[in-house]
Amino acid sequence: MLQQTQVATVVPYYHRFLKEFPTIEALANADSHRLMKSWEGLGYYARARHMQHAARTILTELNGKFPETRDALMKLKGFGAYTSASVASLAFGEDCAAVDGNVLRVFARIYAVSDDIREQATKDKIDTLATLELPKGRAGEFNEAVMELGATVCTPKRPKCAHCPVSESCDAFQKNLISEIPFKSKRAALKHHTIAVGVVRKGDLILIALRPKDGLLGNLWEFPGGKQKPGETLAACCRREVKEETGLDVKVLEQFAVVKHTYTHFKITLHAFHCSWVSGEARPTASQEIRWVRLRDLEQYAFPKANKLVIEALLHPAPKEQDLFSQHL
Ligand code: SF4
Repeated sequence: MLQQTQVATVVPYYHRFLKEFPTIEALANADSHRLMKSWEGLGYYARARHMQHAARTILTELNGKFPETRDALMKLKGFGAYTSASVASLAFGEDCAAVDGNVLRVFARIYAVSDDIREQATKDKIDTLATLELPKGRAGEFNEAVMELGATVCTPKRPKCAHCPVSESCDAFQKNLISEIPFKSKRAALKHHTIAVGVVRKGDLILIALRPKDGLLGNLWEFPGGKQKPGETLAACCRREVKEETGLDVKVLEQFAVVKHTYTHFKITLHAFHCSWVSGEARPTASQEIRWVRLRDLEQYAFPKANKLVIEALLHPAPKEQDLFSQHL
């Protein structure tokens, strides 16, 4: 849960999650909608899917025994180098370095590594340096200490070098290179997509679709919609996307919300329209399943953040179009 997410955000989710799925069996056997609902709002939903996949692997292939070494952990879905090393060192005392963003920064400065910190070769170099520094039998404590140093003292901006316990052996400090290290190359600007979605009504029911199992926002529900094509009006985009994704012909009514949202690799501006059903039988042409549900029942389904904001606007309509913002969820 803590990957890319702040501790304060995670804490309530963590407690609720453990209460709901207290064992590997409970997680492995959890209904996917319940799992997604418990993760709703945390973002990066692949983490939840991977965790369940890992739980199932442990049950079916490892006789229910949780792996205790970094190499064995790395074979589980969702366990990369950092997570595997963290669990192996902190929970099982294996001598391995857990290198997260904080640790990368601390070691880059201590050894004055001026290479681009985004490059895998630089990360590998720092992993080797951190491994060389590990005190035998105390890797867990060491990893925690370096992470803590990075989070509290050796911060990205204005590190507190005057209070740092390792300043004497820190090359960047000794050579006055702190403002230059770590060096991070600039990322290309994020691509932007304009999206139109339709809240299609038939009587007092609203149409929602379950996204495909894998990929971005997999297993979450959403309102049908998609990317605007060049030269297309938003209303035309909405009508076309609803037709493509559900087979329905709809009348596009007024726009009632605009949501701006940033994902890791792109950002979107999502325009939400009221639509009324004209003809056709709804079928899941681009999703796993579609359902007609009551407005008040929408809260039982797990939606991505941008769609949650659309629901907010539906539940609490403003006198005019709502402009809503969200970040990285
Ligand atoms: S001396 Fe400064 S730059 Fe070096 S590790 Fe400590 S806080 Fe970081």
